[in-house]
Amino acid sequence: MTTEEKKKALEKVAQEVREFKGLDIARNATKAVPGEGDPDAKIFFFGEAPGMNEDLQGRPFVGQAGKLLEKILMSELGLTRDQIYITNIVKYRPPDNRDPFPNEIEACREWLDKQIEVISPKIIATLGRYSMAKFIPDVSISKVHGQARFVNFNGHRYIIFPMYHPAAALRAGSMMQQFIADFGKLKNLLGENKVEESKIEEKISQQPGLF
Ligand code: URA
Repeated sequence: MTTEEKKKALEKVAQEVREFKGLDIARNATKAVPGEGDPDAKIFFFGEAPGMNEDLQGRPFVGQAGKLLEKILMSELGLTRDQIYITNIVKYRPPDNRDPFPNEIEACREWLDKQIEVISPKIIATLGRYSMAKFIPDVSISKVHGQARFVNFNGHRYIIFPMYHPAAALRAGSMMQQFIADFGKLKNLLGENKVEESKIEEKISQQPGLF
């Protein structure tokens, strides 16, 4: 797909997200939050669901968590937010920022899948446990964050890089250090021309108690 074609396909998804009224959270949203960024991004980030600021602006990660993400993106990777793609697993704000329900994740699933397919990134970085669980279920984020792995998904093979959610990093100093350190690993991964599967899988198999 050309960049123009990608833009159009992403706008079509965004339009559908904005028009959808099939969930309470969609009907009650101030603004839907489809996602945004570079259609040719090498890294695709996705978090959980919009919060209050995102709901007001219709843009993902514009509150405190987003500010942290932007700061570390720049300091560790030298990237601005327009050079990545960023979205959420659920496109509407759940009331009082509660965790998303399974039916809400399911209702938004095809949009996220389409966004991934269109952008076709080198790396998918998941922010927090809900987004991680889409690709890597039944593991603890504290055990696997910062470890890349290959996952077959909808006929493609993607590098999945699980990370803590930036809001969690803001809450605890120890997580902040790990969150920043994981960005360092992400930078190395991004810089590798050809990521060797054996290298990644070896790293995973060294983790006790994972499989
Ligand atoms: N937290 C998320 O998971 N997503 C946002 O867009 C903002 C905060």
